Amino acid sequence: MRELIIDLDAIATNLQTMRSKVSGAIVMAIVKADAYGHGMIPVAKKLEAAGAEYLGVADINEALALRDAGIDLPILAWLHDPRDTFVRAVDAGIELGVANVEQLARIAAAAEHLGRTARVHLKIDTGLGRNGATAAEWPDVLKAAHGYVAEGFMQVVAIFSHLSCTSEADDLQQIARFETACEQAREAGVEFELRHLTASDGALRYPQAHYEMVRLGVSLYGLSPFTENTAADFGLRPAMTAQALVTQTKRVPAGQNISYGYLHQTTAESTLALVPVGYAEGLPRNASGNAKVSLNGKTYSIDSRIAMDQFVLDVGNDKVAAGDIVTIFGDPASGVPSADDLAAAGDTINYEIVTRMGGRFKRTYLGEEV
Ligand SMILES: *Cc1c(COP(=O)(O)O)cnc(C)c1O
Repeated sequence: MRELIIDLDAIATNLQTMRSKVSGAIVMAIVKADAYGHGMIPVAKKLEAAGAEYLGVADINEALALRDAGIDLPILAWLHDPRDTFVRAVDAGIELGVANVEQLARIAAAAEHLGRTARVHLKIDTGLGRNGATAAEWPDVLKAAHGYVAEGFMQVVAIFSHLSCTSEADDLQQIARFETACEQAREAGVEFELRHLTASDGALRYPQAHYEMVRLGVSLYGLSPFTENTAADFGLRPAMTAQALVTQTKRVPAGQNISYGYLHQTTAESTLALVPVGYAEGLPRNASGNAKVSLNGKTYSIDSRIAMDQFVLDVGNDKVAAGDIVTIFGDPASGVPSADDLAAAGDTINYEIVTRMGGRFKRTYLGEEV
């Protein structure tokens, strides 16, 4: 009765659409966080079949799950458990984002232990202040990497960083710092094949920063990384639709209070429709009073409090029956609210909306690779 419909063909099409915009750069398709809530394994299999050349995830455990599912593409993971020995990752041929000399040492030890060469991407913090080496640490990271390469423990695949997308001026400063860091790597004798800096936002904004690779997440799922543009502006199609069946309807008199806190009362005799989706499914509770949903071709506001398992629609005298389909969000081209609409209603971003969808939703895949 609760369904997330994931259109994998839309994701494959979005990959081709974004490819045409990135000046021939390799696309690393980001499938972290269960492919932003879309389902990591089916999405990765579809991307592999659609010709994706690289996958990216945050955690090594996500990368290992992809390997276990039989995916052979190069995979980068960059957010590491401080206790990880990196043996499993190096053994599975997972490429590792590296932010400091201490991680490099652990990776080199893993490579030596396994008799393998680890493939690393060195990360410089160009201003975001998250992971990555500081400018002060960078020479030591380069020196250590150079040494491990000479010993045969490591290959430096890439230099990378991540933009804050705070303002164009801030991003341009990060781009300049990134180019300096790449120059310093060359001067330190560190050889690398790839540079990658931009995610969806930067890739669409700064063609001069495509380099050899871009890392694309949200755009592949058919969502815009900008609040001032819709996905359709870039020819992208949303892949996720969230739906549920009305479980019950009833006629109530005027003055009926509805749901916790009585945010809404009926003003006349009215029909109430109960929808079995709540904040346990990821519907933001603070979107109560603002979120809109689509039912039988009409848009209704969720005027009352969203609860853990359910919300109620006051549909007035409209004909609604148990079993009718309520669309919480989907492709706005079909006249339903978008993930962006729900994000605005819940004071968040589309990334968070799709990523948090889960709970008791059942996922149905369209265009699945078998
Ligand atoms: C999540 C993430 C991405 C993808 O970002 P989108 O905005 O979804 O394209 C790229 N790089 C890094 C380091 C990330 O954490």
